Amino acid sequence: MSLFTAVEMAPRDPILGLNEQYAADTNPNKVNLGVGVYFDDNGKLPLLQCVQAAEKAMMDKPSARGYLPIDGIVAYDSAVKSLVFGEGSEPVTSGRVATVQAIGGTGGLKIGADFLKKVSPDAKVLISDPSWENHRALFTNAGFVVDTYAYYDAAKRGVNFEGMLASLKAAAPGTIVVLHACCHNPTGYDITPEQWDQVVAVVKAQGLTAFLDMAYQGFGHGIQEDGAVIQKFVAAGLNFFVSTSFSKSFSLYGERVGGLSVLCADKEEASRVLSQLKIVIRTNYSNPPTHGGAVVAAVLGNPELRALWEKELGEMRVRIKAMRQKLVDGLKAAGVQQDMSFITQQIGMFSYSGLSKDQMVRLRTEFGVYGTDTGRMCVAALNSKNIDYVCQSIAKVV
Ligand code: PMP
Repeated sequence: MSLFTAVEMAPRDPILGLNEQYAADTNPNKVNLGVGVYFDDNGKLPLLQCVQAAEKAMMDKPSARGYLPIDGIVAYDSAVKSLVFGEGSEPVTSGRVATVQAIGGTGGLKIGADFLKKVSPDAKVLISDPSWENHRALFTNAGFVVDTYAYYDAAKRGVNFEGMLASLKAAAPGTIVVLHACCHNPTGYDITPEQWDQVVAVVKAQGLTAFLDMAYQGFGHGIQEDGAVIQKFVAAGLNFFVSTSFSKSFSLYGERVGGLSVLCADKEEASRVLSQLKIVIRTNYSNPPTHGGAVVAAVLGNPELRALWEKELGEMRVRIKAMRQKLVDGLKAAGVQQDMSFITQQIGMFSYSGLSKDQMVRLRTEFGVYGTDTGRMCVAALNSKNIDYVCQSIAKVV
């Protein structure tokens, strides 16, 4: 009898499980569209030039690695604030945003969730139906009851916006609503700016707490454009949360660079909130790691490197869009009868293809084309070499 005799085997992470299956697949044509990672046209994970330049400058002037402050690198936090709320914007200049460096976007969500559990212990959390699969687990583990708001309409191939609004209108005051700021994962369908106005109005009227998950800023329409939703919440006079991830936008997945920003009523309130966020961090992992945050701060803080980053991010965004069009054209050329043009209406890294679980399983087992059982495919993993094969494979299963 061991202490762990009664410990049950936890279910495997669905996406990481797919990766293992992909790695073991001997099909020479195999394509991994399962995991949410951007690959370049050669199928390689990019190492951005702006990152290389920042790292070279750091190597040329090596520095010792002391502990960072609990809330992270000062220049990093201020760069995140400006990126999220706008350089020189009122929330930034007034000092009413509390921002902390976090271990990826996941870390930002978790710090926010743990802090919210202290502030609103009885609040319910609503996530979109469907959502990034970790949202539910993360907020459940932080002690919340998690439910969903309507989002995807499979028949319509788009957002069930009336349903979404109705869910939010029915939510009790104080309910925490997790919203995808842009590039909805997994569906690829975002709501329009006018629909955001309505969501903001309901959040305000109902007294809900918005938690904006911004994991793909710059992957949708542009850095400013994707951040525009934040401005709407600011303009409505709301207090809200924003988690930031640089995993995708800097291709720094493994460095775990992200952040959490909380917009407060005023500077004094922000300092109290920050002090509580620091307690959450201190009691979890004490302080964040140095390297990724230093790289991002160096790039965002240097006009030349920042321009290079914006150019490289723009290239990733444009390439994904081109792949969406190639996918639509290629499916048609491969003989798929149904109109697949909805793929170009989707945005960001993912596409809900509308394929059934059976079709996704066939794609995987017969053709080595890996997507999730829900029909989600990572468009950012398509390239000029694998696109024809993917289109022909899909044509054979639909
Ligand atoms: N939120 C969403 C919607 C995501 O898609 C992801 C990454 N897949 C994250 C948060 C987490 O980002 P990170 O890898 O930086 O923790």
